[in-house]
Amino acid sequence: MLILPRRAVVTAIRASQRLKLSTATGTKSFPSLRNANIPKAVVDLVVIGAGPGGYVAAIKAAQLGLKTVCIDKRGPPGGTCLNVGCIPSKSLLNNSHLYHDVLHDTKRRGIEVSDVKLNMAQLLTAKDNAVNSNTRGVTHLFKQNGVDYYQGAASFADPHTIRVFGNTDTDNNTPAETLLTTKNVIIATGSDVTPFPGITIDEKKIVSSTGALTLREVPRRLVVIGGGIIGLELGSVWARLGAQVTVVEYQDQVGAGMDAEIAKLAQRSLVRQGLKIKTKTKVLSAYEGVDGVISVQVESAKTGAQELLDADVLLVAVGRHAYTSGLGLDTINVERDSRGRITVDEAYRTTPHSHIRAIGDVCTRTPMLAHKAEDEGIAAAEYIAKGHGYVNYDAIPAVMYTAPEVAWVGKTEEQVQAAGIKYRIGRFPFAANARAKTNLMTEGWVKVIADENAHRVLGVHIIGPDAGEMIAEATLAVEYGASVEDIATTTHAHPTLSEALKEAAMAAYIKPIHF
Ligand code: FAD
Ligand code: NAD
Repeated sequence: MLILPRRAVVTAIRASQRLKLSTATGTKSFPSLRNANIPKAVVDLVVIGAGPGGYVAAIKAAQLGLKTVCIDKRGPPGGTCLNVGCIPSKSLLNNSHLYHDVLHDTKRRGIEVSDVKLNMAQLLTAKDNAVNSNTRGVTHLFKQNGVDYYQGAASFADPHTIRVFGNTDTDNNTPAETLLTTKNVIIATGSDVTPFPGITIDEKKIVSSTGALTLREVPRRLVVIGGGIIGLELGSVWARLGAQVTVVEYQDQVGAGMDAEIAKLAQRSLVRQGLKIKTKTKVLSAYEGVDGVISVQVESAKTGAQELLDADVLLVAVGRHAYTSGLGLDTINVERDSRGRITVDEAYRTTPHSHIRAIGDVCTRTPMLAHKAEDEGIAAAEYIAKGHGYVNYDAIPAVMYTAPEVAWVGKTEEQVQAAGIKYRIGRFPFAANARAKTNLMTEGWVKVIADENAHRVLGVHIIGPDAGEMIAEATLAVEYGASVEDIATTTHAHPTLSEALKEAAMAAYIKPIHF
């Protein structure tokens, strides 16, 4: 943390008050950058945004010897992922799953339970504790690695100067206004919820994922617009806790980009768990009646038939878009694409300023995932410090944390077909895996797609218990260009779920042993 004399802080607050006043009177407002009252610092790198992209980039850069400042206006570091994304959603998914299992899946295991109650307040506290312990961890890592963390909103004054307006409402040492002169910038400002035209999110009854993570009561009826990962994960949470959940999806399959065969299995499984899923259905509008019930008007894409769905809470989950608001990108003419994403080259350099880089959800490289943002953060820091960095976009795993989990890496069967590649497939069911049978968790399959001639692994798609852990081995196989024989001839511990991957790999070139 940059320590500034108290006098400098007070003068800075006065300067920012002058700034607010002049804005209110409509005068052209920014004080001169030469204003001696504003604290200034000169650094090697400013990282804007402390999400998984930004905080990892800052730590890596500091480890590589760069004097680094990281800025986030949210307050606690960790970005969307730690505060309102991956971490709180996984806490609710884990604990709602446990609750559901205790209610419905103990008898056959020889465990008699009675008087099971849901304590919603404690469920939310457990989620908040998970968030806090993770964000505190990042603060600690910043200190340990010598990253200066500023809690405030950053914007470009010019290509090498970042103006920071500190969060004066939080307990931190960031001055009210600071100017940072820097050799390099990494923009890691992430993404925000894509709104649905005509539907206003109030985060109480009409919620985005953020509001759906903080509902204090289980809604009787929850309608979800969008059968992507957020819709299915958070739909699962509230269905397990007792809500009647209806997911409305525009496309003919759920899971936004999953292998079609696996998406069908996932949909069938979720329907068995009680979710209603309406694919090929479009939401037209939604309005709240005087009785507080939300009417959601939907239309079948096939027949054009319309229907009204009643909801106590409506979750809008139709995607996320790059967030650059308030950054002042127009001031310095940073290039963006038609969707507002910052365009980057292979070294994450933006146009026209090659010393300004962009990573994570805000840039043109996809997918929007935390681990992709982290790896880009490391690579961008390495490009700055060493001139080279590495991310393999063909080997980025994805996981949907439903029950069973769905995880995949590499190409889907549809992508392989579209590319005209000759391929072979090996499948293996968890119903034939010893560990899955022992654990009474036999739902799901492993599907391995390999090149017809070289047998090189092109994609692995898993629906089943612990799929999110199992996908790491498949990712390593894709990363190192392994063949299905490489996986099949590698000894896997017995009894483990990962033996199902070995057998699916065998099935792709000869025959599995246990099926
Ligand atoms: P973010 O995490 O969005 O961080 C950007 C930060 O920049 C924010 O904290 C913001 O306050 C700050 N910022 C913006 N503008 C400024 C400014 N001008 N000045 C200062 N600070 C600024 N991904 C997964 O891989 N696994 C999951 O399980 C998963 N679950 C998710 C669940 C939900 C409900 C959601 C919404 C997302 C989930 N994601 C998941 C996606 C993941 O959260 C994002 O891909 C990831 O957070 C992107 O990281 P980032 O660093 O690019 O941006
Ligand atoms: P998404 O793009 O994954 O899914 C949105 C879905 O909404 C799509 O299937 C789309 O067809 C549908 N849709 C769009 N307009 C519609 C309409 N008018 N009516 C009905 N359906 C409509 O977006 P998301 O689920 O909001 O997730 C946002 C991002 O966050 C994604 O990039 C996702 O990968 C990421 N995320 C990842 C995880 C994870 O890794 N476990 C968890 C949550 C979020």
